[in-house]
Amino acid sequence: MPKKDVDKLKFPLKGKYVAMLAPSFIIKFPYPSIISQLKKLGFEKIVELTFGAKLVNREYHKLLKKTSELVIASPCPGIVELINKNFPQYKKNLAKIDSPMIAMGKICKKTYPNYKTIFISPCNYKKQEAKKSKYVDFVIDYAELENLFKKFKIKHSGKKVYFDKFYNDYTKIYPIAGGMAKTAHLKGVINKNEIKSIDGAQKVIKFLTKPDKKIRFLDVLFCNGGCVGGPCIISKLSLRQKKQKVLNYLKLAKTEDIPEVKKGLLCKAKDIRFSH
Ligand code: SF4
Repeated sequence: MPKKDVDKLKFPLKGKYVAMLAPSFIIKFPYPSIISQLKKLGFEKIVELTFGAKLVNREYHKLLKKTSELVIASPCPGIVELINKNFPQYKKNLAKIDSPMIAMGKICKKTYPNYKTIFISPCNYKKQEAKKSKYVDFVIDYAELENLFKKFKIKHSGKKVYFDKFYNDYTKIYPIAGGMAKTAHLKGVINKNEIKSIDGAQKVIKFLTKPDKKIRFLDVLFCNGGCVGGPCIISKLSLRQKKQKVLNYLKLAKTEDIPEVKKGLLCKAKDIRFSH
């Protein structure tokens, strides 16, 4: 069995590493404590994936504006694999747009050129996706991170710390089913009844087997509830409670007084291509 990324790395990390957190982290780890906990684990820089999601949204916006063909969202590697294996007739419809993880990897490699990027993930599918990219060096999942905190006795702290850069608020709902369609500003681009959000592999299979021809944009996620239902989020919380945690995090983010330099500004992603 190939070695897991978490076992290839030596913790506490020594050297230049940037942690890229998916916003679903909030279900398992408290904010802002998670940032100082990751610093204690040796990460020099810590960013959130939400700025990457914002740039991915802009690509979908552009694509949907120029095509009348069905577009299937591709940020979820579980969906990409399902289509490639079982529904090859839809391969052409998968958007050739980066996932927020890859987009953020590109942004981090430009901003922090000598750093290794480590994505902190709610699922194993992301580990496979990262292996195909030069922008994400390692992936560790939430369960692995929790074990590392336990191993090194890194506890929560009440200290107020910020992400290093690229703080973005409205795309924090990306891990909730339909989060992309809700945040991609599609009003005026396509009609509401041409968009369908589906979460859960069985429901996706059902749709693809008997598609509704009027749908032009399929915002799909493999796990029930979206990434909030990701398999590496080991929690007793119900899906509704997990979703609520993400929504509370968004609410908090909107009231936070974040210094301008910490925000995700479009100029920071200038000249980076997020489609392929
Ligand atoms: S929906 Fe599930 S499989 Fe897809 S990216 Fe999210 S956690 Fe991973």
